[in-house]
Amino acid sequence: MLSTAPGSCYDAAQKKGESEIQNLKSKISRRRPKLGQHFLHDQRYRARIMEALPLEPGDVVFEIGPGRGAMTGLLAERARKVIAIEIDGTLAPGLQEDFPSVEIIVADVLRVDFSAHCRQQGIEQGFVFGNLPYYITSPILHHLFAQRDSIRSMGLLMQSEVAERVTATPATREYGYLTVATQLYSQPLTAFTVPPGAFSPAPKVQSALVTFRMKAKFERWTQATGSEFLEFVKRCFAQKRKNLLNNLAGLYPRGRITQALEEARKSAILRAEQLSLEELAGVFESLTRAAGRARKDD
Ligand code: SAM
Repeated sequence: MLSTAPGSCYDAAQKKGESEIQNLKSKISRRRPKLGQHFLHDQRYRARIMEALPLEPGDVVFEIGPGRGAMTGLLAERARKVIAIEIDGTLAPGLQEDFPSVEIIVADVLRVDFSAHCRQQGIEQGFVFGNLPYYITSPILHHLFAQRDSIRSMGLLMQSEVAERVTATPATREYGYLTVATQLYSQPLTAFTVPPGAFSPAPKVQSALVTFRMKAKFERWTQATGSEFLEFVKRCFAQKRKNLLNNLAGLYPRGRITQALEEARKSAILRAEQLSLEELAGVFESLTRAAGRARKDD
């Protein structure tokens, strides 16, 4: 009988065998569709994505959802370090074996504090890449914008429909809250679309790679002003068919809204989607000034 006493060579061999079996299991692990697992198998698209990413050699890359590592090795070749955040723990051993230099964090990206990781790496900002799990694209975008101070630039693969929303211009069907929230803090650019056949299994929709240069639209605004503005924008777009006056009526006195719209030279019958980000900001600032005046008069 083989001895498996702790520390013996049989014990070591058995442990090695177990870990190899574990790695093998993780590589052939069952796909978990609820986690948005559509793996990018097309080598040409992997290469095109790498070419389009505005990566710099000194970058620390945070990869969201490395999956089975379709992009992880390519990123590691181009960056100083890759920190890969994957929620599916069964994929981690295989990833670690294939990419020993990569730091793998088994976690929900929505709970990851990027600033803490930047501090640990001795950097101010990192680069974010992700072939995003589509079921939580918007929450991930909001989480990333909330942590924008720790992010230099991003390249994200998402469903085309969301790419159209983040890059939309006013007076289009796609223009809305997500557009404004994105363009308040970044300059998004669609690089190219990726067909469903490039993924395994194929998703039902087209995808697109979007790059984001992180840059606040209004440098003079504090964090709190930005958050208040986004609350205001949420209300402006609450019911897309209603005009601005009616959407904002529950939030401010009607007289104050008409006055602010007049100050910003905008008609009260306009709908939010007809105003650019700068124009929405103009109305918001007029309303904030009017609220300040009203407080003084009280
Ligand atoms: N990067 C791989 C590729 O291109 O083949 C996989 C991309 S797949 C579309 C999305 C990945 O995100 C999956 O590996 C999935 O397990 C992972 N994921 C899903 N939800 C996540 C979350 N909340 N936090 C981190 N990773 C998540």
